[in-house]
Amino acid sequence: MSKNTINNHLYIGGVSAFDLVRTYHTPLYVMDESKIRSQCQMFKKHFVSDHIETETIYASKAFLSLAMCELVDSEGLSLDVVSGGELYTAHQAGFPMHKIYFHGNNKSLEELKLAIEYQVGTIVVDHRHELLTLINLIPKNQKINVMLRVNPGIEAHTHEYIRTTHHDSKFGLSIYDESTLDLIKEINQYDSLIFKGFHSHIGSQIFEEQSFIEHAQTVLTYISDVYLKTGIVVEEMNLGGGFGAKYTAEDKPFELKFFLPTLLEHIGETSKKLRIKVPKVFIEPGRSIVAEAGYTLYTVGGTKKTTSGKQYVFIDGSMADHMRTALYQAKYDAVIANKLNDEANTSYTVAGKACESGDIIIKDVKLPKPEANDILAVKTTGAYHYSMSSNYNRLTRPAVVFVKDGKSKLIVQRETYQDLIRNDLKLED
Ligand SMILES: *Cc1c(COP(=O)(O)O)cnc(C)c1O
Repeated sequence: MSKNTINNHLYIGGVSAFDLVRTYHTPLYVMDESKIRSQCQMFKKHFVSDHIETETIYASKAFLSLAMCELVDSEGLSLDVVSGGELYTAHQAGFPMHKIYFHGNNKSLEELKLAIEYQVGTIVVDHRHELLTLINLIPKNQKINVMLRVNPGIEAHTHEYIRTTHHDSKFGLSIYDESTLDLIKEINQYDSLIFKGFHSHIGSQIFEEQSFIEHAQTVLTYISDVYLKTGIVVEEMNLGGGFGAKYTAEDKPFELKFFLPTLLEHIGETSKKLRIKVPKVFIEPGRSIVAEAGYTLYTVGGTKKTTSGKQYVFIDGSMADHMRTALYQAKYDAVIANKLNDEANTSYTVAGKACESGDIIIKDVKLPKPEANDILAVKTTGAYHYSMSSNYNRLTRPAVVFVKDGKSKLIVQRETYQDLIRNDLKLED
């Protein structure tokens, strides 16, 4: 019997799934607060080196709310935002603005104005047009830290990485494009800008250490090139996020606490070989901080066996609260929270209630026989679930609850029908 099981029943953060459902109803996002905190602490503890300055930035697009901003701040991490909405959320939560990194390939005028007004720490410029827009907005006597998003031509996927010869990403400017150098020189000339360095991000849910090593090496080589060709010393290097999480038994993420010091050591050695000053190194984990802390609880409704023998189990949520299966064919594992020790020997397809045949939550999962009113707990839903949720079919977004030490705390309320029509206007009134 695992420590998460008492009387055949799933416990998360010391709270039983049954109690959570009774209190907050379903569908429900549940996040184990201690797990999130211990991941933050792992990065703080292991992404360090005696001779390299480092900083860990939480990528807020994975999961953001006011409470999450407070948690991230209390653990001493910085925050990356990619929209005015994320920035506003952080500001409302009282997150220190100097620890904000503002990303995005097409920040609007309003978003840039907001970033300047809030005095965010760093704006990561994506391209020339954005740079010129930004320059025109900066008030006299104000200086803005900027990084430039570059594309190192490496694309990493779950189990492989490739060095692309054509550079078609919508993000950043290619390091293989000579005109990128001109832009760097240009940035360096503006009095209102403090050029800090390069940002790049090679993908998500990556399981190969080599991808990150290759990535760091490529950017360092570019930093050396830039110095040789322009004399500009690049002080900072942000390598983005992308560390994999474990969704099913097939996923084999590497141990970050061993890898992070290795990565830094490699960066130190490569810098020495290239005879450049070792830059300050940033990483931006999103998924690896929150994914495994999250569960989605659903109530089982009906079941159905098709003529060809496929067995469906229907739940009271849908792709509107669980996008990643429909979007990426992502795989998940689940348990019946009230039948944890029962033998899971039959394969089921878990389907939602949306009017869409692609509304599948899990294609194939072994479960004990599901019955109406059972609680289905889908694992590893802490990242890119709440943040990707929608109101498709006018379904209301679930509540989000933090659990810790046997206690639960509501951090995002369940949407109501009134919320759904809040912005609607009638034709005649
Ligand atoms: C998405 C993203 C991240 C986080 O990626 P994870 O895979 O969730 O760690 C970090 N930085 C940037 C710029 C991103 O776009």
